[in-house]
Amino acid sequence: MYPTIFDGHNDTLLTLYLRERGPEASFFTRSELGHLDLPRAREGGFGGGFFAVWVPPETMHPTGGVPIGISQFPTRATGLDPDYSLRTAVGMASILFRSEAESKGEVKVVRTSGEIEWCLADGTLAAILHFEGAEAIDPDLNALEVFYQAGLRSLGIVWSRPNAFAEGVPFQFPSSPDTGPGLTDAGKELVRACNRLGVMLDLSHLNEKGFWDVAALTDAPLVATHSNVHALCPSARNLTDRQLAAIKESDGMVGLNYHVGFTRADGERNLDTPLELYVDHLDYLVAHLGIDRVGLGSDFDGCAIPSAMGDVTGQPKLLAALAARGYDAASIRKIAHENWIRVLEKTWRSG
Ligand code: ZN
Repeated sequence: MYPTIFDGHNDTLLTLYLRERGPEASFFTRSELGHLDLPRAREGGFGGGFFAVWVPPETMHPTGGVPIGISQFPTRATGLDPDYSLRTAVGMASILFRSEAESKGEVKVVRTSGEIEWCLADGTLAAILHFEGAEAIDPDLNALEVFYQAGLRSLGIVWSRPNAFAEGVPFQFPSSPDTGPGLTDAGKELVRACNRLGVMLDLSHLNEKGFWDVAALTDAPLVATHSNVHALCPSARNLTDRQLAAIKESDGMVGLNYHVGFTRADGERNLDTPLELYVDHLDYLVAHLGIDRVGLGSDFDGCAIPSAMGDVTGQPKLLAALAARGYDAASIRKIAHENWIRVLEKTWRSG
């Protein structure tokens, strides 16, 4: 029996918004499509995590043209229209709040670390409202205040595209994450405002100059919710040893991404990737960060998962692979959920 998993990133709201699972798509119906729904979460010991609002390009929007599918987003994406972004983010966030209301107590949108602990003990699925890219937030930060009051507790300043605040890393391989300019003045104001409110900043899609700008400004732990090790897989999306050292220094953490292309040394989108390779990344992260600063950040419904896992029901197989590598029960519990609660407690308390 493995500990409940609290997870750093999923894109399930997007699949429900785009109705990739059909017109009746619901979080409560077991689907063979995608990676995550409530019945499969229960089966896989998934106790909750960060539910991302990621605004798709207008060509992917249900009313904006032919949906191109999550797996086909461009390697170098362009910026989005602010009004479209706000409208879409409100639509996606409403799916999470409606799911909570319809769940009859089975799903809770959490705003404190105490609420996460209560949910994990009680068997209620704990969902953090997270924005993956700040396109829906105006440079005056009015929308930030409103979304915070609604429940926003985590924000990636960028996805892998430019916006008013910073520039994201494109999906390049092999590549350094040093791909463009750092934060704009509005981006620096956004960091200060998130510190003041106690909104966690997620660095996973930020380019390297932006990463160092945040590191110099923020008073919170540095966190990358769904990124892997650049030394093992030289994707622009992964973290260099210098970045890992800064994350450790800040007492932050990294969540392991399950995307095969961010894990394999060849960067190939090959689903025939053994779970032992994921344990190699976890070993490296533990060696560089310490056992208290490593967690899981699946990227369910937003990436190519290895066949050996399949979907959220296969997640315990990764914990089994950790046990086989010699991790004891206390270490597996930290990676499964305790480290996320520790870092969120520290980050949210300061707000
Ligand atoms: Zn992502």
